Amino acid sequence: MGETLMNFENRNEAILIVGAGLSGVSAADGIRQAGFEGRVILASDEPESPYDRPPLSKEVLREPDALQRLQLRDSDFYARNRIEMMLGRAAERIERDTRRVRFSDGTIVHYEKLLIATGSSLRALPILPTGMSMVFYLRRLSDAIALRDALPKISRLLIIGAGVIGLEVAAVARDLGIAVTVLEASARPMARATCETMCDFIVDRHMKHQVDIRTQTTILGVEKHANGYRVTLSDGSAVFADAIVVGVGVVPNIGLAEAAGLTVSAAGIHVDGQGRTDDDHIYAAGEVTFHYNSLLERMDRQENWAHASAHGEHVGRAMVVGGPDYAEISGYWSDQYDFSVQSFGVSAGDRNVVRGNPDTGSFAIFHLSNGVVIGVSAVGAARDMRAGKAFVNAGAEVPEDVLSDLTIDLGKWRQQVST
Ligand code: FAD
Ligand code: NAP
Repeated sequence: MGETLMNFENRNEAILIVGAGLSGVSAADGIRQAGFEGRVILASDEPESPYDRPPLSKEVLREPDALQRLQLRDSDFYARNRIEMMLGRAAERIERDTRRVRFSDGTIVHYEKLLIATGSSLRALPILPTGMSMVFYLRRLSDAIALRDALPKISRLLIIGAGVIGLEVAAVARDLGIAVTVLEASARPMARATCETMCDFIVDRHMKHQVDIRTQTTILGVEKHANGYRVTLSDGSAVFADAIVVGVGVVPNIGLAEAAGLTVSAAGIHVDGQGRTDDDHIYAAGEVTFHYNSLLERMDRQENWAHASAHGEHVGRAMVVGGPDYAEISGYWSDQYDFSVQSFGVSAGDRNVVRGNPDTGSFAIFHLSNGVVIGVSAVGAARDMRAGKAFVNAGAEVPEDVLSDLTIDLGKWRQQVST
């Protein structure tokens, strides 16, 4: 209400979005919802109509018809919203003085405002370069299709990295009867995304499925043999594998912004609470950003679906009508075997209070900082997850004995305390 379109003197001036992943598409949506009627151009180096990534390490690998359910928006969304698509072309250079972007096919697009939503790329292991036979990385649809097609031919799989990609792929592979070894450089799997209790639960489930997880172990050498690879490890042992999956993290795609002289760091393109870079005509959104979050009162980087969606939409709106600074807390989910880890806010605190018994497969963990609930993680505990989200959003102080007491309904407890 009372919002006015900012800095658009001519309604035909274009907003160009580079990157048609979740944040780019959500931004296009936000731009139209905010009432902008000029041109919106959505460009991607990927040829496919914009699709969702989470199913790539889950359903796409095991369900033949999963590809039909990947679209981020229904097929007439782009035409209905007059979003011009430029697929299969990489943006190669931003010319800030003339406000133009040059693409790989020679196309030049003028913009009044530019949104960089280029996401991340997989960190590569030099010893296992992309393109090596039966070595798989997993970020794009084409990567997932290549792995899906290879899985029936694999009996021994080596996975490098026990992060979310590594463990989700391990679960699919075990369900298919493939022998799996996972190497993890750090002391525990999913260390970035879990506290110790959640990590123990996940490791226990993988061990019950006979996954051989080796922590504090990296790959030292690879030799090609007739039946696959012999891989030597940092602990002096060797494993044989028909195929290798690498999931050792991502790096933000900051190259375009950096070459254009915008402020960047290893954490991403630096943007304010509106998604604005240090050029008033250029914004950035989603996983590529190191962004200001006014709820946290600091700069932050997030690599999850909920953030890409919320930040994309927020920045899209902000490009058109301004508004408040970004103030969202996000989280992630991870589906492995028959369980799904849900996490909201931070995934480990100075105290991590367990509610329920992990052995039952239904429990929640509340992550506290100085007594304040700043995160919640759960498996099979939707009600406690909902209550935990409310605590986190409210910055609530909740006694530990209340959090762990299964006889107390946390949702009702919260209502009683706040009335
Ligand atoms: P991206 O999705 O990376 O999109 C960026 C787009 O920009 C890409 O299409 C890229 O090709 C394009 N691009 C890059 N450079 C250029 C250029 N120069 N010119 C044109 N286009 C360019 N999160 C969860 O919370 N739960 C999950 O279960 C989950 N599962 C996942 C599974 C997989 C296999 C992967 C890869 C991610 C998963 N995520 C999950 C994370 C989530 O999908 C990402 O955080 C989200 O996709 C980030 O969206 P984005 O739009 O910021 O970036
Ligand atoms: P990740 O979660 O960062 O995990 C990578 C893991 O690999 C880390 O534990 C890392 O340890 C380890 N590692 C790094 N180098 C290694 C080496 N040489 N040998 C063995 N282990 C090594 O990243 P990811 O699993 O590759 O996922 C990539 C992206 O996809 C992330 O942005 C993630 O959020 C997203 N994704 C999300 C989901 C989900 O949310 N469910 C699912 C799939 C993918 P260190 O931490 O010590 O470096």
